[in-house]
Amino acid sequence: MMTRFHPASNPDFMPLETLRELQWSRFQKILRHTWQNVPWYREKLKSYDVKIDDIKSLDDIHKLPFIIKTDLRDTYPFGMFAVPMSQIVRVHASSGTTGKPIVVAYTKEDLEVWDEVISRSLANFNVSDRDILQNSFGYGLFTGGLGLHCGAQFHGVTVIPMSGGNTERQIMLMRDFNVSVISCTPSYFVHLIDAAQKMGVDIKELNLKTGIFGAEPWTEEMRKTIEREAGIKAYDIYGLTEIIGPGVGAECSHQVGPHIFEDHFYPEIIDPQTLKPLPDGEWGELVFTTLNKWAMPLIRYRTRDITRIHTEPCPCGRTIRRIDRISHRSDDMFIIRGVNVFPGQIESALLAIEGVLPHYQIILTRYNGLDNIEVQVELSPNQFDDTLRSIEAVQKMITEKIQHTIGIRVKVQLVEPNRIPRSEGKAKRIIDQRS
Ligand code: ADP
Ligand code: ZN
Repeated sequence: MMTRFHPASNPDFMPLETLRELQWSRFQKILRHTWQNVPWYREKLKSYDVKIDDIKSLDDIHKLPFIIKTDLRDTYPFGMFAVPMSQIVRVHASSGTTGKPIVVAYTKEDLEVWDEVISRSLANFNVSDRDILQNSFGYGLFTGGLGLHCGAQFHGVTVIPMSGGNTERQIMLMRDFNVSVISCTPSYFVHLIDAAQKMGVDIKELNLKTGIFGAEPWTEEMRKTIEREAGIKAYDIYGLTEIIGPGVGAECSHQVGPHIFEDHFYPEIIDPQTLKPLPDGEWGELVFTTLNKWAMPLIRYRTRDITRIHTEPCPCGRTIRRIDRISHRSDDMFIIRGVNVFPGQIESALLAIEGVLPHYQIILTRYNGLDNIEVQVELSPNQFDDTLRSIEAVQKMITEKIQHTIGIRVKVQLVEPNRIPRSEGKAKRIIDQRS
């Protein structure tokens, strides 16, 4: 079996001291490069009264200001680029559902880093040159498609550039091409499982053995559901456009949260309220510094993703640190009657009940000044034919389970099969009709 990264040469297993030295040497170079080439960054440091010479070790990183999403919007489109256009060979952009998208850029060397981290991710998932990968992440400006594509190709995998959508064709090719690995959002894969069933194709009978899922939060319960229904191993890949795209981190075969490729992306956890750094082990907002990306380096970028860095070493022996799966992003959290709720809690509660499908939507309304939450859950065709009594029993069970988990009253509505819109990319879980 050929993979690019054998344990002996895999940077994931570097001695800790070597790793910290490498991070520090890369950090010094990238900080100077950013300061020299991005006028916006020079102004920013000036206004914070910090000089780059004040930074004498990695720990001093805390003295530097953060970069946030709106800074990237304010400098749209090219204001954060740190090299001349002639050195930029690729541009991507994040979806930017509201307003202008966020534009990111890559030099040739940056793309090599990207290929490398995808290849290391695939090595984590035991994917090799004997595999055929159907890449069902969307192609185009979204980083999932091309990012995974090029990295998998570099790894030696046979890549089918499928992109999202065209669901029946996806199933057909998966079967006819003997696809062994699929990559897409977890919510789209759930849709594929459904669609296969309708076409009379049993995914379990196919050659598919590995799923690479990311780009949106998903729960451990969702993983179990997917692994059971499709008979595959489902792995978590994490990333965000601003930092590089997919491949900022990836789980190992122990499936205990993504390892961060921290020789390239230096992670910190901060308290999102006080903005103070938190020690490993504590929950907070994930912040990244790109140590080895030249077209658009970001120093202390706030991701808005909430997690913690694990303190216990992983049984796999990797020295690069591991985070908890991103259970939610602060943008997705909603406050209802003073209680903070995120969709993952509702997903966990739902999928803990046997027979409940992972198709749901959360609808928030306001009536007479009071916030209400309704969770719509889809019935399976079998359940739909059940007696009213057994449907009511399911409804009661779901209501109680969710109320127990989030601590407030919810209305649960069971809807007929195929009522909840299916996503081809990131699922939209919350419909907020308040205001
Ligand atoms: P957008 O911000 O428009 O969604 P991206 O496609 O760059 O743009 O999305 C990155 C975000 O997607 C991350 O910050 C994170 O919130 C989410 N995400 C990506 N991968 C995962 C994952 N494996 N688990 C949970 N969330 C993820
Ligand atoms: Zn591990």
